[in-house]
Amino acid sequence: MAERFDVVVIGAGPGGFRAARRCAQRGASTVLVEKEFPGGTCLNWGCIPSKTLLASAHLLHRARHAGDMGIDIPSATPNWAKIQQRREAIITGTRKGMVGTLKNHGVTYIEGRAVVTAPGRVSVQSNGQSRDLEAGKIILAMGSDSIQIPTIPFDGQVVISSKEALSLPEIPKSMVIVGGGVIGCEMACAYAAFGTKITIVEALDRLLPMEDAWVSRLVEREFKGLGIEAMTGRKVMGVDKSVSPARVSLDGGQTVEAQKVLVAVGRRARVDKDVVGALGLEMNGPAIKVNKKLETSIPGVYALGDIVGTTYLAHGATAEAEIAAANATGGNEEMLDYSMVPRVVFTFPEVASVGKSEEKCQAAGMDITIGKGFYRANGRCHAENLTNGQFHAVRDNAMNEIVGISMVGDMATEFVAFARTLLGTCEPIRNITFPHPTISETIEDALHEALGGLLFEQ
Ligand SMILES: Cc1cc2nc3c(=O)[nH]c(=O)nc-3n(C[C@H](O)[C@H](O)[C@H](O)COP(=O)(O)OP(=O)(O)OC[C@H]3O[C@@H](n4cnc5c(N)ncnc54)[C@H](O)[C@@H]3O)c2cc1C
Repeated sequence: MAERFDVVVIGAGPGGFRAARRCAQRGASTVLVEKEFPGGTCLNWGCIPSKTLLASAHLLHRARHAGDMGIDIPSATPNWAKIQQRREAIITGTRKGMVGTLKNHGVTYIEGRAVVTAPGRVSVQSNGQSRDLEAGKIILAMGSDSIQIPTIPFDGQVVISSKEALSLPEIPKSMVIVGGGVIGCEMACAYAAFGTKITIVEALDRLLPMEDAWVSRLVEREFKGLGIEAMTGRKVMGVDKSVSPARVSLDGGQTVEAQKVLVAVGRRARVDKDVVGALGLEMNGPAIKVNKKLETSIPGVYALGDIVGTTYLAHGATAEAEIAAANATGGNEEMLDYSMVPRVVFTFPEVASVGKSEEKCQAAGMDITIGKGFYRANGRCHAENLTNGQFHAVRDNAMNEIVGISMVGDMATEFVAFARTLLGTCEPIRNITFPHPTISETIEDALHEALGGLLFEQ
């Protein structure tokens, strides 16, 4: 006999977790099914472990420059075992917290692999047992996997994905990172600080190619200072693992030695035919096709997060989860402008942006003014010895409003949610007093340059 729930959510990553909690808050009887660990990729193999490693690496990097600030630290070295223990402890603690939160909200949490057998029917398999659920609505949030390059498949030892890169048994002496996007650049910073010789090979002509070119230029300059070699406009052709370190061959005949080859060329929606095949869902390339309400081609079945291939960001998944959960419980909401989902990169220095980029505005033929604020002109940045950074604000001259903000610099990721609130009308900007001395005054400088006298006109 099937157990009946208003909503069955599959996958307890940030998207599924948020959707289940929201459904329960809206009064629906809700079950969340997870086949591995609560927190999904984000908590277990993504955002949190990578930021934990980056935080240790950043501290090490700062400690090595402590002499600039009059503090002598004779030797700052990584203790890899402790760094890994700390990563593990943060993950396990947070998993417990998530399960507790679900319980407090009245969400039933089931461990097991969910298979949708028909619209409204889900079977959960665990330890050879199966449990049948009947669902008023189904929300799919099964996440994504690392994309593999067929000529250099993952072996978990030499050719690795970000998952293995987060828990290596020791700090490798050398690493080639294939892909200069977000994950590749973040891992490059972490391991470069820990002492690994890093070479990034990126097929496009610059690192972080989804950001404006000025961002890439600044990041590439900083990476040089960290000892990271960036080979852009180049491709990896193969990896010879018969020697140690392995020999990575590039187009043009060059080879680079590396103990580890991290392939970080993106992620692909995890659409397993065994799990959702019975639904006959319409697809959007490798991802599940949804409308603005996050509903799939099958009425009553919603999908969100990496599985729909929109943002491949945890906060993109949670933003979609709010919409899907509202609609699965009688609401009528739409996911509006994806450019308003902030983009964040936790490199040294950090990168963040929200709204329209300069290059997109130019490509659309918009009349724009760019306002800039510089860390090197900011008192707090000098006090903190963090003078490499810039904020750019993009003003749409026709509308007299800020339409995009991009930033490179320490703490940039902490400012971007606030920056989002500055997009649109000038009205709220007039009323902000930026405290002195803070890095946020750099945003004020950028806004003043972009908006000029408009800021003070009524
Ligand atoms: C190294 C790395 C760093 C990252 N850093 C950031 C960052 O700093 N900021 C950011 O916003 N994003 C970051 N991301 C991306 C972020 O992790 C993902 O966008 C986010 O986890 C997607 O959430 P989700 O809920 O869609 O899926 P996931 O987090 O992947 O969760 C899906 C869950 O579904 C479960 N599942 C799958 N199939 C079934 C089934 N049949 N039955 C039951 N359960 C199932 C899986 O086990 C998994 O737990 C990073 C990713 C990586 C790899």
